[in-house]
Amino acid sequence: MFIVRLIILLIIVLTLLWLLKRLFSDDPEPEKAESAAPENMRQCKYCGVHVPESTIVMVDNEPYCCQEHADLDRQ
Ligand SMILES: [Zn+2]
Repeated sequence: MFIVRLIILLIIVLTLLWLLKRLFSDDPEPEKAESAAPENMRQCKYCGVHVPESTIVMVDNEPYCCQEHADLDRQ
């Protein structure tokens, strides 16, 4: 019965190696999400709230969080 024990041991070792490989190969993904470039924040000239640069409304070279605040500031 020695050969049966050897086979069982081999299966256990292979399973552990497979699990370890899975753990390590899963690592790079969360890092990828973290390394996303942080977006520049701009402050609304009217209300002072910080808004990502891609959603900022530029009026006369002044940053606003929305068109409404740009209109209110220019009144
Ligand atoms: Zn605003």
